This record gives sequence, structure tokens and C-alpha cells, in this order.
Amino acid sequence: MTTTTILPAQAEDIVNLVGGQPRTGEAVHELRHPFDGRLVARVHAADPAIVESAVESAHEAFRSWRTTPSHRRAQILAAVAAAMRAEAEGYAQQITLETGKTLAEARGEVNRSIATMEISSEEAKRIGGEVIPMDAAPQGEGKLGFALRAPMGVIACITPFNAPLNTLCHKVGPALAAGNCVVVKPHPHGSGVAARLARAFLDNGAPPGCFNLVHGGAEVGQSLVTHPRVALVNFTGSGPIADQIVRQIGLKRILLELGGNAPTIVHHDADLDRSVRECLGAGFGLGGQSCISTQRIYVHRDVYEPFLERLVEGAKAITAGDPFDPATKMGPMINEEAAERVHRWIEEAVADGAVLRCGGQRQGTTLTATVLTEVREDMRVVCEEVFGPVVTVSAYEDIDEVIRIANDSPWGLKCGLFTNSLDTALKAIAQMEFGTVNINGPSRARVDHEPSGGTKQSGWGVEGPRYAIEAMTYLRMVSMAP
Ligand code: NAD
Repeated sequence: MTTTTILPAQAEDIVNLVGGQPRTGEAVHELRHPFDGRLVARVHAADPAIVESAVESAHEAFRSWRTTPSHRRAQILAAVAAAMRAEAEGYAQQITLETGKTLAEARGEVNRSIATMEISSEEAKRIGGEVIPMDAAPQGEGKLGFALRAPMGVIACITPFNAPLNTLCHKVGPALAAGNCVVVKPHPHGSGVAARLARAFLDNGAPPGCFNLVHGGAEVGQSLVTHPRVALVNFTGSGPIADQIVRQIGLKRILLELGGNAPTIVHHDADLDRSVRECLGAGFGLGGQSCISTQRIYVHRDVYEPFLERLVEGAKAITAGDPFDPATKMGPMINEEAAERVHRWIEEAVADGAVLRCGGQRQGTTLTATVLTEVREDMRVVCEEVFGPVVTVSAYEDIDEVIRIANDSPWGLKCGLFTNSLDTALKAIAQMEFGTVNINGPSRARVDHEPSGGTKQSGWGVEGPRYAIEAMTYLRMVSMAP
């Protein structure tokens, strides 16, 4: 597909949105393209007064939004999804400009985001409750009881850079479907994407104040999550930042979608071509900058050599560079600091005995697809979250032992297993300590309506509109006596 640029040629000003009104900030930050550092936007950070009025505006809008009929809420979300579809290429180019993911990847994200919004619209009509058999206890005789799902109020939505549109849709779609109002603080490398979505809500019938937008970094995030009127914090990002937030907010509800060092196992009876192909996509897609990127690959010794040979051949063919160039298969890292860190971890592993099979080169923010073998479990490229284009490949003999090794991680988001054996699949399903077990799929595979969340330090709570609606509402018990 050829690319016609439809974004403005000049860097834009991106402002806050409070109660449907644009609000400029005094501090203006430059947003630069991750690949070549060109200025793409000037982002107006929110000062404390803007954060305050954004939360107040959401609180005010909540009074009427929570009783807006669900068919109307569904209609607005569907209209937003349709508007996103009409403007899909603009969204995709904006994602590429701000995050550096390739245009093909950005287009894929836009399609998934539209689906997330459509599913949220459908789920808005299915928020039911439960009838409670009151007379099961003597004191309930003659009473009618039921539990309703009630919205919580103002939800603070904080997003990372790597999927700036779909991550946001997974928060805002279910939140508004359930009758909550939101204040969104996107990652700076997703500011324009979030601004587009905020405008789409305003243009398609959402009352001003349902969707407020504040820009900035840690300080703005902090004043938002600690605001007393925020009923729930919905955060996707890294573990250390989540840890800070949890300590700051005290007795406030929080949903967390965090990181991992996801494993994928390739058993001796697996379809080798398929597992190589899918591990390449899961390891190097988005330059490895996904919470569920396949980082640790464990391959049965019987097929280790042919798997490795094909994987390395495939990794060498991944051209890294300008994400707007259709020939590029992998874009840059988000910034130079991230690229330097990943490069340092590769060098550290090699100095410690790992073998570099391919990649390991850095030019500015661009790293080449890297395959390491002969790694130890205590090397950073194995035991920490790399969040870059690096996979480690290790051989195993015993499936029980490899499941133990795969589980031996502080995280548990998603894992993959390639096998043609039902016994092996059932064993993995029973024993793997992850929020998702993909059989004949790698760790990075997801449909947007599935329940998606992690165990251990990978998070608290589950995404997928139906499940997120549960997490963003509470059960209100109603008891009626004659
Ligand atoms: P990050 O934690 O650095 O930033 C996430 C967001 O938090 C940004 O908007 C940032 O501005 C904000 N922030 C920073 N300090 C804050 C503070 N003190 N208070 C409030 N907000 C604050 O993460 P990142 O680098 O943007 O994203 C990468 C991380 O996100 C990885 O660890 C990845 O695994 C994780 N992630 C998880 C999922 C998931 O669904 N589980 C999805 C995508 C990314």
C-alpha cells in the first residue's frame, strides 16, 4: 500500500480538553518523532488548576451521564467507532508519527481499536445484575432483592506509549459504556492520538465533560490520581510507576495492566515453520515494545537447531528503520535512552557468556532484531522486562521442567506453547501461571473481547470490555420489603 500523507505538514499545538473546551497550558513540551527526532507537536501540559477543573468537569458530567439510557450511551460509542473508521488512516499516521511503530502496525492497531469501541458499545446494552433469593434466610422472607451494577464516578485513565489508541479505547469505551466519566492522561508520545479520540467523542454526541484530557508527565499524572474526587485509577504502564501510584493513592480503587518477560515454548511435535513465523512476529513486532512480546523462547532439544537456524534467518531479514517507509518491518525504539538501555543489556549478556546469533546493532533509536542463546536465567535479558527487539532461545528436554522455568518469573501476563500433543497442551493449561495460555500461538496474541489481565506483578484487574465494565462498576444491593 502506498502512503499519502494526510497529516498537517507543520507541527501542531496539542492542548488539554476540559468540559469540551480547549485549555492551553503554560508549560509546552516538544514532541519529537522517535525515528529522526523531527518536531511533530507542541504539547501543552496541564497545570494543577487544569487538572482540578478536568476532574470537577467529569464529576459534574457524571450526574447526568450515569442516568443516560444505555441505548443512548451505546449509540454514542457506536458513532465514535464509525468516526474512527472514517478517519482510520489519519489515526494510523498519527500513531506512527508519535510512537514510531510502522504504518502497517499502526493500521492494525486502529482496526483493533475500532473493534474495542464497537464491543464497548454492544456491552453498554448488556449491563445487567442479579436477583437474590432473599427468602433463603428467615430474615429475608417476603422481601425482593437484586444487585445492580452501578458506575463508580470519575475514572482517571493513564496510558503508556506503545498502543496509544487501543489501550485508551480499552479504558474509555467500557468506562463510558457503564456510565462513568473520565479524565485521560496519555503518555506524551500519544498526546495527539488521545486528542483525536477526545474530539471524536465530542463530535459524536458525548456530553462535554464525559471525556476530559490532560497532558503531561509524572507530575500531572500524580496530581490526577491523588485527586479526592477520582473514584478509580485505571493505569497501564510499568511496574515501578504503578508501585509509586499505589503508595500515593491510599484507599482508592485501582486497576493495573503492567509488564512481563513473556515466554513461548516450542515442543518437539510443533509445526516448526508456524512457530518460527509466529515467534518472529511476537518477538519483534512493535520492536518488542509490547507487554506481551515474546522475550524468552524455550525450544525442545530435538528441534532446537532447525528452529534456531530459521529464527535467525527470519530475524536477519527484518529491516529496521523509518516507520513511514513501506519497506521497513520494524520501527525505532521510543527514544534514545530506551535504545541505549536495551543495547547495554545485550552487551552485558554477551560479556557474561551469551552468544549473539544476530542483531545487537544500534543506530540512534534504531536497534536490529537480536537473538541471544546460551543465556542464564539470571541475566537481565531473561529475568527483567527487555521491552525491545531481543529474544533469548534456550533448549529444554523435559516439559515439566520448562513449565517450572517459564513460571519462575515475577510476572504472569501471557504465555504461548506450540505443540500437537493434547496431553502437553492440557498440562500447560493446568500448570502455567499466566493470565492467558495461548496453545499453538505465541505470548503476543489477543482478541479484544477476551478477558485479558495478568497474575503476580503483571497487574490487578482484567481488560476486555465486558470484564472491564465489571471492574469499573460496583454491585449495588437493593432490598425491598412489602
Ligand atoms: P510508564 O510506566 O513509564 O508510563 C505510563 C504512564 O504513566 C505515562 O502516561 C506516564 O506519563 C505516566 N506516569 C509516569 N509517572 C507517573 C506518576 N508518578 N503518576 C501517574 N502517572 C505517571 O510506561 P511506558 O514506558 O509508557 O510503557 C511501557 C510499560 O507499560 C511496560 O512495562 C509495558 O509492559 C507496560 N504495558 C502494559 C500493558 C498491559 O496491558 N499489561 C500494555 C501496554 C504496556
